[in-house]
Amino acid sequence: MNKKLIRVILIFVLLGFCLVFNLSAKEKTKPKIYISVDMEGIGDIVTSAQLGPGKFEYERGRKFMTAEVNAAIEGCLEAGAGEIVVADSHGNAQSLIPEELNKSAFLIRGFPRGLLQMEGIDSSYDGVIFIGYHAKEGTPNANLSHTIWGSKFSELKINGKVVSEAIFNASVAGHFGVPIIMVAGDQNVVKEALAEFGNIETVITKESLGYYSAKFRHPELICQEIKEKCKKAVQRIKEFKPYVIKPPIRMELTFKHTYDAEAFSYLPWVKRIGGKTILVEADNILDINRFITAVFSINNK
Ligand SMILES: [Zn+2]
Repeated sequence: MNKKLIRVILIFVLLGFCLVFNLSAKEKTKPKIYISVDMEGIGDIVTSAQLGPGKFEYERGRKFMTAEVNAAIEGCLEAGAGEIVVADSHGNAQSLIPEELNKSAFLIRGFPRGLLQMEGIDSSYDGVIFIGYHAKEGTPNANLSHTIWGSKFSELKINGKVVSEAIFNASVAGHFGVPIIMVAGDQNVVKEALAEFGNIETVITKESLGYYSAKFRHPELICQEIKEKCKKAVQRIKEFKPYVIKPPIRMELTFKHTYDAEAFSYLPWVKRIGGKTILVEADNILDINRFITAVFSINNK
């Protein structure tokens, strides 16, 4: 082989190396997005008739939910997002319709799973989007408000503060340094999100009028706004800060029934601090999340 040929080959190898390196670096700079999806805050869902298998409008509810998630995915993609992971996080965690979901996204389905509505989140993500989120248990004029488990949990307090699913899940993402970038739900959850997470993007999917009533726009208009706001959120992704609850974590969980507080207080590291309230202390929010997952899973089979 002559020297000239060797030089040409070397140049091509070098160029190839540069190209591959550049592409992988580019891929890395594409924001990775986690979308946690609940159902009660989806537009046009208003009573339990849309919320569970066998109910008269559940199939329609699943379509509304899937459409809002697709709108979010499309908005993220238009803004240049890379990997997108969607966590179906309502009821049996099988409400999203997989074959109707945008093919670019991965789907996490089924309960139980370690971090429940946030399973799979880690520090490799750049932002979290909440779709279909709702107000916490006890919020007045809040459509389908509850905290994690409507029929069992009456109040969840973290380090003395009563929290919603949005705040709790945001603190799980915050543990990994990942910020919330967009929240969609009724006016109550949006108000809370802006107060707690700062100047993020939001969509009011419905105006709650009462526990079982709300005022809506046409579903296509809701989806259009979700797409626009998700696009904007990904474009602004460097501006948002993670929501961190400083450890150690002190969780006070109040049940609706005295029996549940008694049953879980038999565990040696669970203290009963009231007729219906237990206390669990942990070094970090993930351990608290896993405890809640265990409570939810044992009782929910
Ligand atoms: Zn929920």
